[in-house]
Amino acid sequence: MISIDLTKTFSAVDSQFDIEAPIAVQADWLPYPYCEVSEGKFCGSYCYTDPDVEVVGDISFLVRGYCDRCGQPVGKRFVIKFNQIFVSEDDGESYMFKGKQLVLDDALREQVILAMPNSFLCSNYCKGLCPVCGCNLNKERCDCDK
Ligand SMILES: [Zn+2]
Ligand SMILES: [Zn+2]
Repeated sequence: MISIDLTKTFSAVDSQFDIEAPIAVQADWLPYPYCEVSEGKFCGSYCYTDPDVEVVGDISFLVRGYCDRCGQPVGKRFVIKFNQIFVSEDDGESYMFKGKQLVLDDALREQVILAMPNSFLCSNYCKGLCPVCGCNLNKERCDCDK
């Protein structure tokens, strides 16, 4: 859990405080059938703007899986922008902080889920496999009629 203690922030309105914390990004947040996630980290800052708290930063993590087109193993680092207002009183749609504690986990997870591309590719230019002979068209050429 990433929890921010807001005590010092409340006495320093509009001042920015840095935050860096590990985040356990889960493989089942991602739309890829086989992948492993590691090195999850949130790095950013938070600021009390009275009455809200604004948190901005980058969520970064490493995904290992297989390219959707050519099937080759791929390791890719993702960096996702995070920018969220947290309110002190429930308005039914915003994220909240309670008292002097702000828990980031739900907001971070939602941002990761929203931001991930649907396909996991070794490269945007991946040519995939030949549908006839199955050769990897990134590495080989074949004479099949396609
Ligand atoms: Zn590929
Ligand atoms: Zn072929």
